[in-house]
Amino acid sequence: MSQLSRLSAYAFNPIEEEDKLSSELASSGKRIIKLNQGNPPLFFPTPKYTIDAYVKALRSGKTGYTFHAGITELREAIAERHNRLYRAGAVAEDVVVTQGVSESLLYLNSLFIDPNDRAAVFRPYYPLYRSCVQISGGKLIFVDSHENEGYGFNPDNLKRALRSNKGRTIKFMVFSNPCNPTGIVMQRNELKEIAEIAKDNGVFVVSDEIYDEIVYNGAKFTSFSEVSKGIPSAILGGASKNFDATGFRIGYTLVTGDDRLSSQVRDKLCDYAKMRLSSNTPAEYAFAESINNIKAHRAFLNKMVAQIEKRANFVHRLVNESGYLSAPRPNGAFYILPKVSMEKLDLRNDKELVERLLIEEGVQITRGSGFGAPGHIRIVALAPQGILEQALRKIDKFFVRHSK
Ligand code: PLP
Repeated sequence: MSQLSRLSAYAFNPIEEEDKLSSELASSGKRIIKLNQGNPPLFFPTPKYTIDAYVKALRSGKTGYTFHAGITELREAIAERHNRLYRAGAVAEDVVVTQGVSESLLYLNSLFIDPNDRAAVFRPYYPLYRSCVQISGGKLIFVDSHENEGYGFNPDNLKRALRSNKGRTIKFMVFSNPCNPTGIVMQRNELKEIAEIAKDNGVFVVSDEIYDEIVYNGAKFTSFSEVSKGIPSAILGGASKNFDATGFRIGYTLVTGDDRLSSQVRDKLCDYAKMRLSSNTPAEYAFAESINNIKAHRAFLNKMVAQIEKRANFVHRLVNESGYLSAPRPNGAFYILPKVSMEKLDLRNDKELVERLLIEEGVQITRGSGFGAPGHIRIVALAPQGILEQALRKIDKFFVRHSK
């Protein structure tokens, strides 16, 4: 398959799949409730101290290219943050600043994956994990977790997936924790098991921790960096979610391993970053200041996470009261991935469900099959409770109308 054919086949994002239809419906006068994209600034204004830092950067002329791997202030702030929160033992040189975790993922795949190489992706997955591997010509091996087991990590599924690689080396494994799309926060012992299996099989681990501070319902977040000593690995994070600044387009890869492979990854990521000169300069300064303003960040985050907790729990309750949906309770991020009783409905699949729901009720959500979970739907629980309630009532009405 040529690169062009791979791009045509795989460069798509299921989260935005209905956007065109949604805009057409909106311009014809229909009111649309959009619960498809995890875009926190639409519901929680980016905090003032972050905006002020951005404006200050602009006013003080921070508008040129910067160092390709990120300004020193930001790389230091990111390393110190991980040391403060997780005792990661990181230094600024371990950090490569990117234009969002999205760019980190593109780099990692360009670096690791040659055609027919394997990557292990935990399923349900964030869609970009899959498309990045496929665009690079790689093959996916899935590590499944199931709704009826609370989407918990199953070590046998990982071992089985690694054995199923037909003798080829698996270049890396990737998961998000807290998980988009399930909202599940992994337990420390689960991460330890992953670390052990990765070590036994010599597989590089990519832990996407972009939601690491959006954790609630008493759950405790453990960073993979806390259990990964001696294991080639990297952590992904950024400004988008915890810092409520998706539009800054700032993310990073923190290479935590101290082995040979990790130091190669560190060097090569820097080489990739050179090709696009630098990230968004004022956003880098603003992000550095936001990380370092620990008190202001904590105060903002406490408020935002308390709201998210209420909204996610509310959606979880209504989902499980519906006669058509069931989902484990999310304890992190702001997503829920209910299983749909498709057998009760006159709809062929989750894609048809999502399209018809948008047309008939004006509610935009995402099909579970886009996350590797057919027969499910993903709902973003960021909107105010009144809007979420309206949307969930409309979804119920839709199900009743489509009942067999
Ligand atoms: N990783 C996960 C798990 C996400 O949910 C998202 C966005 O929703 C991203 C990465 C992309 O993040 P960024 O805005 O930093 O590109």
